[in-house]
Amino acid sequence: MLAAMGEFDLIARYFTRPVARAVLGVGDDCALLQPSSGTQLAISSDMLVEGRHFFADVDPGALGHKALAVNLSDLAACGATPRAFTLALALPQVDEAWLEAFSRGLLSLADAHGCELVGGDTTQGPLNICITVFGEVPTGQALLRSGARAGDDVYVSGTLGDARLALDALRGRIALPAEVLAQARQRLERPTPRVALGQALRGVATAALDISDGLVGDLGHILKASGAGATLNTSVAIELLAACAHPACTKDLLAFENRLGYVLAGGDDYELAFTAPVLAREAVQAAAQQAGTPVTRIGCIDAEPGLRLTDAGGHRLSSEFASFDHFA
Ligand code: ADP
Ligand code: MG
Repeated sequence: MLAAMGEFDLIARYFTRPVARAVLGVGDDCALLQPSSGTQLAISSDMLVEGRHFFADVDPGALGHKALAVNLSDLAACGATPRAFTLALALPQVDEAWLEAFSRGLLSLADAHGCELVGGDTTQGPLNICITVFGEVPTGQALLRSGARAGDDVYVSGTLGDARLALDALRGRIALPAEVLAQARQRLERPTPRVALGQALRGVATAALDISDGLVGDLGHILKASGAGATLNTSVAIELLAACAHPACTKDLLAFENRLGYVLAGGDDYELAFTAPVLAREAVQAAAQQAGTPVTRIGCIDAEPGLRLTDAGGHRLSSEFASFDHFA
C-alpha cells in the first residue's frame, strides 16, 4: 500500500497499458500468456537496489531503461525473443515526476522490443526494482553456457569496459575528458541489450552468456559449465575499450594494464560472450551483420582448464595480469 495518490491510481496511471500479444495484462490476479507452438518459455529476473546498483540521484528515465535492459540481456544470452515482463517496485514515496520519467524510460525500451508489461507489485519501501522477463525460444534451441568445445573460437559483441570506466570517473577515481565521460556514461546508464544478436546466433553459437560482472569472471561460467579452458589474445581485447578510440582521448590516458583491467574485469557491459566452431566463422559474421552488432573474435577454447592471456605474438602474459583482483 502507498499513501498519497494511492497504489491503484499509481498503477493505473504509470504501469497499465493495453496488451496486444498477451492474453491478459495488468488488472487481474494473474496475467495470462500463450506461448507460440513449438517454443519454450525463457524466464529471468534481475533486481536493482539503490546504493548497490545505482546512485540515489540517477536519472529516473535511465534507471527505467536499465532495469529492463539488464533483463532483456539475459533473454538475449539465451537467444530468446522477448514477449512480456512483470515489475515489482518498492518506492520510498510517490514522486510523480520521477514515476513519469521512470515509466517512460522503461516502457520505451519495452516497446522497442515488443515486450509487454503484464503485471507486477507495488509497495512502499527503500527504492528497489525487480523485473521478471518472459521470452520464447524454439524448443531445444536456447543458447546455454555448457556447449563450448575445445577448438571453438571465443567472441564478444560490441565494446567492453566503458561502463566501469564511467563509474570510476563519477566516483572521482579517474579524470576523463567531458566527451569521453559522456560516451562512457551512456554505456553505464543506458546499456543496449543484444537481443537481435542472441536470436541470430541460435544454431551458430555453441555457448553464450551476457557479461554483467566482467568478461573474465563471466567467461569462467562458460568454461566451468562446458568443462573447458580458454586462451584470450590481449592485443585484440584491449581495443574493445571504446573510450580509448574516442578522438578526445589520448593513447596515454590509461596504462596498458589499466585498459586491460577495464576490458577484462570492468562489468556492467551487457554484451554477449559466446563460442562457435571455427567452421562457423562466416555464419557468425553473417549473424552479426543481420543483427547490426559488431562482434570480435578474442580467443579460443582449450581442453586444458583455466584461462590464459597472451600477447600479440601468442606469448603468455604473467599471471598477475590474469587475476585483476584490483576490482575486488
Ligand atoms: P494482488 O493484490 O492480487 O497481488 P495487486 O493489488 O498487487 O494484486 O495488483 C493489482 C494489479 O496491478 C495486478 O494485475 C498486478 O499485476 C498489477 N500491478 C501491481 N503493481 C504493478 C506494477 N508496478 N507494474 C505493473 N503492474 C502492476
Ligand atoms: Mg500485491
